[in-house]
Amino acid sequence: MKPLQPELDRRKREYLYRRRRLSEGPQGPELIVDGKPMLTFCSNDYLGLANHPEIIAAMQRGLEKYGVGGGAAHLVTGHSSAHHALEEELAEFTGRPRALLFSTGYMANQGVITALLGRSDTIYEDRLNHASLIDGGLLSRANFKRFSHGDSDALQKQMESQQSGESLVAVDGVFSMDGDIAPLPKLAEICREKESWLMVDDAHGIGVLGENGAGSLEHFSLGLNDVPILMGTLGKALGTFGAFVAGSEELIETLIQLSRSYVYTTASPPAVAEATRASLKLVKQESWRRDSLQELIKRFRAGAEQLGLNLMPSETPIQPIVAGSAEQALAWSSRLEEQGILVSAIRPPTVPEGSSRLRVTFSAAHTDEQVDRLLEALA
Ligand SMILES: *Cc1c(COP(=O)(O)O)cnc(C)c1O
Repeated sequence: MKPLQPELDRRKREYLYRRRRLSEGPQGPELIVDGKPMLTFCSNDYLGLANHPEIIAAMQRGLEKYGVGGGAAHLVTGHSSAHHALEEELAEFTGRPRALLFSTGYMANQGVITALLGRSDTIYEDRLNHASLIDGGLLSRANFKRFSHGDSDALQKQMESQQSGESLVAVDGVFSMDGDIAPLPKLAEICREKESWLMVDDAHGIGVLGENGAGSLEHFSLGLNDVPILMGTLGKALGTFGAFVAGSEELIETLIQLSRSYVYTTASPPAVAEATRASLKLVKQESWRRDSLQELIKRFRAGAEQLGLNLMPSETPIQPIVAGSAEQALAWSSRLEEQGILVSAIRPPTVPEGSSRLRVTFSAAHTDEQVDRLLEALA
């Protein structure tokens, strides 16, 4: 058994050590963090729904009706009418024949990829894909090909050399650390031509993009034939917890049979599904949340450009400011923290070496005044 401390020490020396902060109370722009009041720009609660009274009330009613625990896996006795109703509503919301709930987005990605691919198949992934897509690809044992970020020509070339087996292209709809949107129409065209699966992980697009908040596929008007596999998470813009996969009847039945991360785990609490149902109604009805989010983003980008900050080409609530070294990103983040503002410094291995950054994220719950405070502190 080798000693663990040297590796921990190395991480500290290289500014890569991670620690958890203790926050008090419900999610929102203003939080007590490590005992101090902070204005935060680092949550994924993009629509400000994580502490919404109607969603809380729905969860409370769900608890009265269903109790706390999921009790068993979905294939035993854990599949409640709350889960089932939510699946039907998610299918309708995304314009797909069926949807299947997973406990987390991490598990959904693993479950899909391992169910569809094996040793003789090939998976193609954007270099900046979320860790859960990468891990799903590795676990499937398929040949693993990574293409440079957003580069559909590179993907097309790689696909031309595949001799046999199934292929699946997996990308984030909105990239979690850069905030840019994948070139989905082009990817859909390539996949159609190559008869390959296309899977979009829309963790940061669902609720945020599209007229009705149905995400990056609605943003580009892409249907089931363009993108056969959509994964969405419920813990970000929807403000609750969990994830889903939406697609054809055959896809969902296949996942129910073969996805080990679906079959061998306890169903999530039905009250959480009730909360998500309430959240989904608000996401659809209250488009003003998406509008005010866009206003905040515009305000921030205009101000940051005036300050000469190194922004990335993002039209989403993820607005990174590139620092370069991990040390620099950490230094910026602690200077902001001294002024009562919390923005996370993102360092390798989450992002490539030399591209450490402040990851600023906005929520519809932020005010103009709060954005201005951030800009003043950045100045
Ligand atoms: C957050 C995230 C996930 C994981 O979802 P969880 O429900 O938090 O496990 C997957 N993919 C992307 C792109 C994410 O940002």
